[in-house]
Amino acid sequence: MKAIVIGGGIGGMSSAIALEKAGFEVEVFEAVKEMKPVGAAISIWPNGVKCLNALGMKAALRKLGGNMAYMAYHDGTSGAALTRFSMAPLVQQVGEYPCPVARAELQAMLIDTFGRERVQFGKRVIQVEQTTEGVIATFSDNSQAHGDFLIAADGTHSVIREYVLEQKLERRYAGYVNWNGLVTIDEAIAPADQWTTFVGDGKRVSLMPVSGNRFYFFFDVPLPKGLPQDRSTIKADLTGYFQGWSAPVQRLIAAINPETTNRVEIHDIEPFSRFVKGRIALLGDAAHSTTPDIGQGGCAAMEDAVVLASALASHSLGIEDALLRYQTRRVERVKDLVLKARKRCDVTHALDPAVTAAWYDSLKSETGERVLAGMCETIEGGPLG
Ligand code: FAD
Repeated sequence: MKAIVIGGGIGGMSSAIALEKAGFEVEVFEAVKEMKPVGAAISIWPNGVKCLNALGMKAALRKLGGNMAYMAYHDGTSGAALTRFSMAPLVQQVGEYPCPVARAELQAMLIDTFGRERVQFGKRVIQVEQTTEGVIATFSDNSQAHGDFLIAADGTHSVIREYVLEQKLERRYAGYVNWNGLVTIDEAIAPADQWTTFVGDGKRVSLMPVSGNRFYFFFDVPLPKGLPQDRSTIKADLTGYFQGWSAPVQRLIAAINPETTNRVEIHDIEPFSRFVKGRIALLGDAAHSTTPDIGQGGCAAMEDAVVLASALASHSLGIEDALLRYQTRRVERVKDLVLKARKRCDVTHALDPAVTAAWYDSLKSETGERVLAGMCETIEGGPLG
C-alpha cells in the first residue's frame, strides 16, 4: 500500500513517519525547494510531545527543547509581576514536559527522521484525482505521482481542501499582528527557565526558552489587516506600539534582529467537519487552521498523524473506511482546539476591553491552579491521553 503525502511541514512529515512505521510505503512531495518555516519557534505541548515520542523522536526532541519550569505574567507598563507559578503540577498531571523548540530545528528533525534525500522538494501539486483503484497527484512541472491514498498536508492555503470540500473557504483575520524571532537569553529581560508574558492594552510580549541559550520571543498588537510590511521599520514600529512599556520590553526590542524577525497577520478558518473524500484526506492546517493563542496548531497536526496511522493500520474494511474513521476521531477534537484558541485570542487581544481588563485583574490572584487546569484539559484531550 502506497501513501502519497503532499506537504513537508509538521503535519506532512509527522504523517509520513507515522505511516511508514505502520508499514506503508510513503512518498513525500513538497512545493518549495528549501524549507523556510513561518515563525521562529513553536511550543510543543505534552500532547504533541507524546505523539513525537510515539513516532520515535523522544531523545532528539528533548535535545531541542527549552526548560520552561515556570510561567509568569507581568504588567506591560510597570513591569510588575501579576503572577508567577511552577509548571511542575502540569508535568506531574500529564506525565510529560512542554517542549518549546526552534522551528527550523523541529523541521530538520522531522525531515531527517524520515530521510532528507527521500523528500521530493520543488513539487507543487496543482491537481488531484482518484479512481476506485487509487489516486493521482499532478505537479506544476507536469509530472505525476500515483498511490493508493493521498494525505493533503499542504497547509492553511491548501489547494486540495477545495477538492475535498467542493468549495473554497476564506480564512478569517483574527484581528492582530504577531512578530516573532529568536534572541540570546538575557536575564535582564526574563528568567532563563520561564515562559514570561507582559500584557496591557490588548497587546502582549512573550518569551519562551528554547535550546542553545535562546529565547523565542513574540509581540502581538491588535491592528487592521493589510498594513505595509517593511523589515527596515520593524524596530521603530515595535518601539511605537510599545511606547511607555517597561525596561525589559525596551531591552528586548533593542536586542532583536529585524532581518530574522517574522511578521504574521494571524488568521484561522471556521471549523468544518469533512476531512476526507474517498482516498484523499486533509491533515494539519489544511484540515483545521487555528490562531496560535493556545499553541496547539502544530500539536494538532502531530495528533492527526498518530490517529491517521492507527486508523489505517488497525482496520480491515478498506482505505476509504479507515480514512473516515480518522475523520470521526479528529473532527470534534480539532474544532474544540480552534474555538478555544479563538476565545483565548479575543480575551488576550481586547476584542471586548472590559473582558480583557477583568482578565488582567484576575491574574493578580492567579496561583497557577486555574491556568494549569485549563492547559491540562486541552493536553489530556489528545489521542495519547
Ligand atoms: P505547514 O507547516 O504550513 O506546512 C505545509 C507544507 O505544505 C509547506 O511546507 C508548504 O510549502 C507545502 N505546500 C503548500 N502547498 C503545496 C502544494 N500545492 N504542493 C506541495 N506542497 C505544498 N502550533 C503549535 O503547536 N504551537 C505553537 O506554539 C505555535 N505557534 C505558532 C505561531 C505562529 C505565529 C503561527 C502562525 C503558527 C503557530 N503554530 C503553533 C501553528 C503551526 O505553525 C501550524 O499549525 C503547523 O505549522 C501546521 O503544519 P502543517 O504541516 O499542517 O502546515
